[in-house]
Amino acid sequence: MIGYEQFCDNCRRLEERVAQACSACGRSVSEVKILPVTKTHPIDAAEYAHRYGFESVGENRVQEIAEKRASERGGALNIKWELIGHLQTNKVRRAVGLVSRIQSADSEKLLRKIDSECGKSGLTMGVLLQINAGNDPAKFGADTAEAPSLLEHALSLKNIKVEGLMAIAPLDSDLSVAARCFENLRNLRDSLEAQFAVKLPELSMGMSADLERAVEFGSTVIRVGTFLFGERDYSL
Ligand SMILES: *Cc1c(COP(=O)(O)O)cnc(C)c1O
Repeated sequence: MIGYEQFCDNCRRLEERVAQACSACGRSVSEVKILPVTKTHPIDAAEYAHRYGFESVGENRVQEIAEKRASERGGALNIKWELIGHLQTNKVRRAVGLVSRIQSADSEKLLRKIDSECGKSGLTMGVLLQINAGNDPAKFGADTAEAPSLLEHALSLKNIKVEGLMAIAPLDSDLSVAARCFENLRNLRDSLEAQFAVKLPELSMGMSADLERAVEFGSTVIRVGTFLFGERDYSL
């Protein structure tokens, strides 16, 4: 795990990347939030994020959030946890009490379950609909063609607030592949807003390697792990 000074340095370099990407396409840096992704890293990563001033961190697994929040240092930490990884319906009950937002809502069944568990606890959950906008067989997310019916269903659930869309670009060293995915997601958002007369302000797209392209196509949340915290060690 890197030290805090190194993390601060990485944050400043990341802010510089975002600023350059914004100025290249005429956007304001205030339109693009950074979500530090702390998965696989020790609780220090979330502590660094909090100390630097971030309000939320992203994690992939409910179990890992539960463990971190149950730890002494995690319990003392005043930060929000957002779920950005695939969620199984049998983990929804647990997730609802732990996370401030679910970015990976990708089926009607899952949305129904989130809604019913929130109803039991008197909560409203912010969700992003995860769309497989890169048509990547290796990725979760609803197909673009299913998005209208998924949104229609989500809008009918009273304990869910749909805040926007999320996508993970296909892994490809050719960044035009990611760019196409991001453009698809933005176009889909625009057409869903028109079709359903709703606002879907959040576009969660862009990671360490492809965030410039995501900003270019309207990202409002970039989810950044490696660039801030270094390589993940999956053997842990
Ligand atoms: C791990 C992860 C990220 C962060 O990826 P980096 O390339 O390390 O920045 C972003 N989004 C999702 C959904 C992830 O699982």
